[in-house]
Amino acid sequence: MSRTASRLGSLLLGTCCLLGIRATAQTLEEQARAARQRMVEQDLISAGISHPRVLEVMRAVPRHEFVPASQQRLAYLDMALPIGSSQTISPPFVVALMTEKLDPQPTDRVLEIGTGSGYQAAVLAELVAEVYTIEILPELGKRADATLQRLGYRNVQVKIGDGYEGWPEHAPFDKIIVTCSPEQVPQPLVEQLREGGRMIVPVGERYQQTLYLFTKRNGKLQATALEPTMFVPMLGEAESQRSVAYDDTRPALVNGGFEAATLHADRPDGWYYLRQARLAEEEGAPEGTKLLVIRNGQPGRQAQALQAFGIDGSRVPALEVSLWVRARRAQRGRSEAETPGLALVFFDEHRAPCGKGEMGPWVGSFEWTRKRKRIAVPESARMAVLAIGLAGGTGELAFDAVAVAPAE
Ligand code: SAH
Repeated sequence: MSRTASRLGSLLLGTCCLLGIRATAQTLEEQARAARQRMVEQDLISAGISHPRVLEVMRAVPRHEFVPASQQRLAYLDMALPIGSSQTISPPFVVALMTEKLDPQPTDRVLEIGTGSGYQAAVLAELVAEVYTIEILPELGKRADATLQRLGYRNVQVKIGDGYEGWPEHAPFDKIIVTCSPEQVPQPLVEQLREGGRMIVPVGERYQQTLYLFTKRNGKLQATALEPTMFVPMLGEAESQRSVAYDDTRPALVNGGFEAATLHADRPDGWYYLRQARLAEEEGAPEGTKLLVIRNGQPGRQAQALQAFGIDGSRVPALEVSLWVRARRAQRGRSEAETPGLALVFFDEHRAPCGKGEMGPWVGSFEWTRKRKRIAVPESARMAVLAIGLAGGTGELAFDAVAVAPAE
């Protein structure tokens, strides 16, 4: 997360306007194009996106047009950004991954649930015949519609409503993409997917979800679990059907010891956004036999693992974060901000960042060491994202028994 700050300097887009510097429209366009090019190289290709047309479209669609002015300078960083109404635009990697997994075809008719900013719909619109997208919050749906119109997307239709019901008038769809998270796949969407069609949905609990790719065969969904992920919850009918309650006065991590690896043998359950991080097995691990090893050789490159959890800052004033860490030639990256360690970023009810805690820096080489720290929680905090890794630094860090608990 701290690498964000370091990359801001090189990203003039948006700041020009803020500073009142006159830049011609063309210069801004060129800057945006260069920023997108960098994003595709550094955050998409290096993280495994390979579909040529998807990469081409990610280089072309102006993400900065889909975020509020205050967020434009961050538009080409691989992160979710607040878009108002407590919602977020998904990180570019997630958009590219979901699009690639849908296997978009020029003749496809696609249904999207969760229009949000309209960015994912625009990316799809470049690749398929028709996009139908549903947004439950009228203010977001209207704004996305206007943005899509302004940018000339004529093959996207936006509807305000509960996506749980799908859009029966236009069914069946060749593909369905759900960009908010239900606890279970809504049955109407299963019915509105054509036989042989693909559907991608982040299914799960409020802060623990798995991205699933489904294929419809003989009227039933065949599931492939892709990876752990983190989306905003699906509101409306899906929300009222939720059965697992989340207690945000008792925040905790899952699989902090990295022992569970049911989705992929080399990646831990419960952790998402893994970059250059893999599971290792060692007899001498502080807890169990598995540990997470994060390694990076190129300053500035992402190398991390993330986990989100709910926390009510008005009732939990402080957290105790503890873990075991081992370092091998760990070094800072290009600046102070690129420091190997742990970052805990708090978000308020609008999903805007409202505070931060840090552990580290962990540099040099040292054997397994237990670290613990009390971190104050902002009163307005409702959610936190914990990141462990090199944050743009180089070398290797190994982690085990990462835990979070309300401080005594
Ligand atoms: N695809 C979006 C990301 C959206 S975030 C983009 O590219 O920007 C998820 C969106 O889903 C939010 O805007 C949220 O309001 C919307 N949403 C949540 N529940 C919904 C529901 N039941 N039906 C339709 N939209 C929903």
